[in-house]
Amino acid sequence: MKAKYYYFSILILILLVTGCATTGPGGKTSLIFIGSDTEVSIGQEMDASVRKDNKVLQDEAWQNYINEVGQKIVAVCDRKDIEYHFTVIDSNIVNAFATPGGYLFFYTGLLKEMENEAELAAVVAHEISHVVARHSVKRLQAAMGVSLLEQLVFGQNQDALKVAVDIGLGLSFAGYSRSNENEADNFGIQYMTEAGYNPEGAITMFEKLANMSQGDPNFFEKLSMSHPDTQDRIAKSKALIASMKPLPEGLQLHSQKYKIMRSRL
Ligand SMILES: [Zn+2]
Repeated sequence: MKAKYYYFSILILILLVTGCATTGPGGKTSLIFIGSDTEVSIGQEMDASVRKDNKVLQDEAWQNYINEVGQKIVAVCDRKDIEYHFTVIDSNIVNAFATPGGYLFFYTGLLKEMENEAELAAVVAHEISHVVARHSVKRLQAAMGVSLLEQLVFGQNQDALKVAVDIGLGLSFAGYSRSNENEADNFGIQYMTEAGYNPEGAITMFEKLANMSQGDPNFFEKLSMSHPDTQDRIAKSKALIASMKPLPEGLQLHSQKYKIMRSRL
């Protein structure tokens, strides 16, 4: 069989085995070849690696709190076939990120900058949205190539899983594309609002991050004044919130509650 047809047959088989998955609000779907079990295995490896290289914050109250806020967003999100894990890392770096499979990390350096729980919910919802939309999985699929994908989908090949984890680790710190970020901003604002948070928290958070990050290339989620997309992301987020009006009544910022938690950091 000619190679072209062989790979085409494999792709069709992969599609039959896996296929469409929900990847956003409003019934949005995408072609996903890497199943959730494999994705979670990759996430577990990455979680272990992150825990080995960083200091987890030794404060049970904070770990419970981040999980409580996280689960509120999970409850309204469009992907519930995996468990989500929320961890605070003790580091002054201003950062947060998600691995494939639902392991999410928030640095104390970022948490100290927040004024209220709605700002925290905005960052949490943004990261959950990357997992719902399977942005890392899509990049991994594109990077792996057909033969490795085939081994991952059909075989219990530990080498294939190890290569996937290595590629995944590299990609997770490489940053997302502009359209990925726009999508995560969009879904995140919808999710936080559905969970009862005032979406203005997303705007104040974005603006604050943009203003404090001038000249820092390693800044969280590329939000910096020196990055050309930042103003566009803020403008798009404001337009989305305007389009959602009238907003449900009783949306919260939870400023007092957050200040008590922040004082522990
Ligand atoms: Zn992002």
